[in-house]
Amino acid sequence: MGRQFFVGGNFKMNGSIKSITEIIENLNKAKLDENVEVVIAPPSLYLLLAREHLRKGIEIAAQNVFDKPNGAFTGEISAQQLKESGITWTLIGHSERRVILQEDDSFVASKTKAAVDGGLGVILCCGESLEQREAGKTIEVVTAQLKAVADKVKDWSKIVIAYEPIWAIGTGKVATTEQAQEVHAAIREWLKKEVSSDAAEKTRIIYGGSVSEKNSAELAKQADIDGFLVGGASLKPAFVDIINSKS
Ligand code: PGA
Repeated sequence: MGRQFFVGGNFKMNGSIKSITEIIENLNKAKLDENVEVVIAPPSLYLLLAREHLRKGIEIAAQNVFDKPNGAFTGEISAQQLKESGITWTLIGHSERRVILQEDDSFVASKTKAAVDGGLGVILCCGESLEQREAGKTIEVVTAQLKAVADKVKDWSKIVIAYEPIWAIGTGKVATTEQAQEVHAAIREWLKKEVSSDAAEKTRIIYGGSVSEKNSAELAKQADIDGFLVGGASLKPAFVDIINSKS
């Protein structure tokens, strides 16, 4: 069986009760390709609002999770708390958290371990900066980010890898289909060598970075692109077209 196409919507720190309710209503009434797994990630304040109103069949992700189950960690939320609240996924390692909040590879890895052990699905983000790409270091950077996780996590069955070149996030500069496919294929090769052939075959590797309804169909045709992590466009009605880009 092939890998199920996966589309995530990362709202980042955007939205309000009113606008998130509108997005949910729009998704609830939309005709979505039934073969696609859809997950949306609103800001944590709105996770329960989303869970209450979103139709069955669309899952919800937190944008972050902490690596301990409970305790004196002001401002943090644990995998156990998310799971209990019906939030079944989390993003981890988004470049905005790596860069702005200085989360390093090792912290990303221990959060991934905590989330997987706590029974959550993980959208694990990786990706290079423009400087690293221009220095020819893309594959090296991305595989080092993934290796930090592989050192701590053996079971990759609940992980979706999101390749998001930093220079393409929110910039309107989407990676070409060739650039994205090349990195996705290299990640799959890496999974085969460093994790297992089974993980290489089954792990969804999705692309993120200025995905829109205009470029998604072409990207979706690539052999190793198993879906998208969508930022800006996930707040718009066109998100439905991106979800349906294979149909
Ligand atoms: P973008 O963001 O689609 O707005 O470029 C993607 C992301 O950061 O996940």
